[in-house]
Amino acid sequence: MSKQNFLGSLSPTMDLRYSMLFLIVGVIIISLSVWNWHYDIRPRLVSEAESNARVLAASHAKSIEAQFQNVTGKADISIIHNSINEMLLINDPNTGETLYRGIELEVDYDVFPDDYELTNLSVGNTACTECIVTENPVFIHRTGELAAILRVYANPVFYQRLVDDIVDALAVMLIGVVAVLVIAWLTSNRLLNSLRSRERSLMFEVAERKAVEARLQQIAAYDPLTNLPNRYLLQTDFTRKLEESSRHKKMLATLFFDIDHFKEVNDVHGHEAGDRLLEEVASRISDVTRNYDLLARFGGDEFVMIMSNVDNRSDVIYVAEKIISSFKPSFVINDTPLQVTTSIGISIFPEDGSDPSELLKNADLAMYRAKAEGRNGYQFFNAEMNLELQFSQWVESNLREALDNGELELHFQPQVNLDTGKVVSCEALIRWPQQDGDKVSPADFIRIAERSGLINDISTWVFNEACRTLNRWTDEGFDTVRVDINLSGKDFIEKGVLYRFLQTLRKYQLQPHQIGIEITENVLLESTEQVIKSLSVLHNSGVHISIDDFGTGFSSLNYLKKLPLSGIKIDQSFIHEAPSNKDDLIIIQAITLVGHGFGLDVVAEGVETEWHQSLCKGVGCNTMQGIFVSKPLPADEFADRYLKRIDSKAE
Ligand code: C2E
Ligand code: MG
Ligand code: MG
Repeated sequence: MSKQNFLGSLSPTMDLRYSMLFLIVGVIIISLSVWNWHYDIRPRLVSEAESNARVLAASHAKSIEAQFQNVTGKADISIIHNSINEMLLINDPNTGETLYRGIELEVDYDVFPDDYELTNLSVGNTACTECIVTENPVFIHRTGELAAILRVYANPVFYQRLVDDIVDALAVMLIGVVAVLVIAWLTSNRLLNSLRSRERSLMFEVAERKAVEARLQQIAAYDPLTNLPNRYLLQTDFTRKLEESSRHKKMLATLFFDIDHFKEVNDVHGHEAGDRLLEEVASRISDVTRNYDLLARFGGDEFVMIMSNVDNRSDVIYVAEKIISSFKPSFVINDTPLQVTTSIGISIFPEDGSDPSELLKNADLAMYRAKAEGRNGYQFFNAEMNLELQFSQWVESNLREALDNGELELHFQPQVNLDTGKVVSCEALIRWPQQDGDKVSPADFIRIAERSGLINDISTWVFNEACRTLNRWTDEGFDTVRVDINLSGKDFIEKGVLYRFLQTLRKYQLQPHQIGIEITENVLLESTEQVIKSLSVLHNSGVHISIDDFGTGFSSLNYLKKLPLSGIKIDQSFIHEAPSNKDDLIIIQAITLVGHGFGLDVVAEGVETEWHQSLCKGVGCNTMQGIFVSKPLPADEFADRYLKRIDSKAE
């Protein structure tokens, strides 16, 4: 039994009982020893006292014997008599008690001549019963004959005093022993108590330290909001699971997913609601997680699920679909039902990577593809995505430099009124010329810039460049047309963007109606109250606002009613397909009808042929844009070809 357990097993009342018992046993042992001494030692003390008395009596007998040597006549006997009497007067010098009670001298008359007149002598109390009696022979030296017997009746005070002294000493000793025992008992009790309280505080300290350690471990390894493992614990467990799957020659799937439009939830409903939603999502996904799968919160609204020992992809698809379905019932947050979806990216070990960071990166990449494919779905990683990643990295590291070094350009593509054939406006399209003559599609690098956050700086540059060009055209004596620029949804999220645009217009002495803004349907889908408010401010000030690539997103006619719009641009895919695909033609007709119904300018994009032109004209589109008229052109070329000179200004 360990010390801790032993001490821990003794209760305070038990201790008291044990030490009381110990004390009583001690006292009993001492009492028995004293009792034993009384009956065993006492006789020995008595005999000791007797021998003392005997020695004393013998010494007196010797002095009487000496006197006998000198006895020559009758008269001398009185001397002996006196000396015996004197003996009776001998007292203890300490107590003053008489040492002898009686003395007897029994003379042998035969030894002495008749004229000696000797008699037996008896003085004091010779009848005392408790006295110690010693018989001492008195010899005559000359003849060696026994002359008399001297009996000394010694006072028993000798041995009584001895006994008393020893008893006193013993009592003192006993008291001392008891005192020592009591002190020992008290001290041991105190010691035990302090030990126990130290032990208790130690145990408390240990328990407290353990609790703190457990808490620290929890904080270090688990996400406090959802109680799911965090990315650090994920890292360790991921490695272990990879080793396990590799050992068993099985597949391992990494599912990377987040909540679509989560930012919007935070913006509209507040961060508190965002947190509640994350908790709810974590709990729902936990329900569809198999026991041996690992679910972790990666950060923000991102979650990672690791499925180890997987046999085939259909197992993974089954789980991915279950996750997606778990989002179907709306989440009720603060009594408000919220409908959110998730996009899942999946990478598979060993095909898509051999270590956690590679598998996570590839699953993340696949998630972006799932989002690009319209969200609320899943995508497996493939090699093509890797090329995309390399391209993204290249764009991210070079686009900023290109922007800062003034390498970006704006080209302008005319938009022509289908009835009059006049250029009514143009669209500003960004170009990033490469030294080797390669072309980098704006659709690609703009998407990456949106992700990396560079889009705001690009849009600011585009807006400024469009205004500067308009201003230059005017200065060069051209009658300018409206320039439409493409903006991203992210531009509206940034605070102060409106103010900056209006400042730029003022800087180049332009009127708001000289500028148009194109936004995609997807921007509108992500639109919050703030986006709508910003658009309204611009629209009310006279800026032309149109929806780009209409018909490709999750078209909802509702926002045609809700938003401050001036026009819609039918996506070029419908125009291209319309000649051969009746459905596309019907879509174009329908869009045009609805657009007109809302009083909007309907633009046909991607008009490449005369056939396209007449088709668009036939369905009633107002404006056309496409290479049939012109490809996007550099500013000077566009001005030369499509802008009218106002001679007076040119001069
Ligand atoms: P968009 O806004 O729909 O622009 C129209 C795209 O169609 C342009 O591609 C244009 O060159 C192309 N196009 C015009 N006529 C024809 C035609 O007859 N046939 C075909 N096949 N294509 C035609 P571009 O310049 O490559 O731009 C692609 C997309 O990149 C744009 O689509 C727009 O979404 C984005 N983008 C371009 N410039 C900017 C910009 O400055 N800012 C932002 N945010 N996005 C931009
Ligand atoms: Mg556009
Ligand atoms: Mg377009």
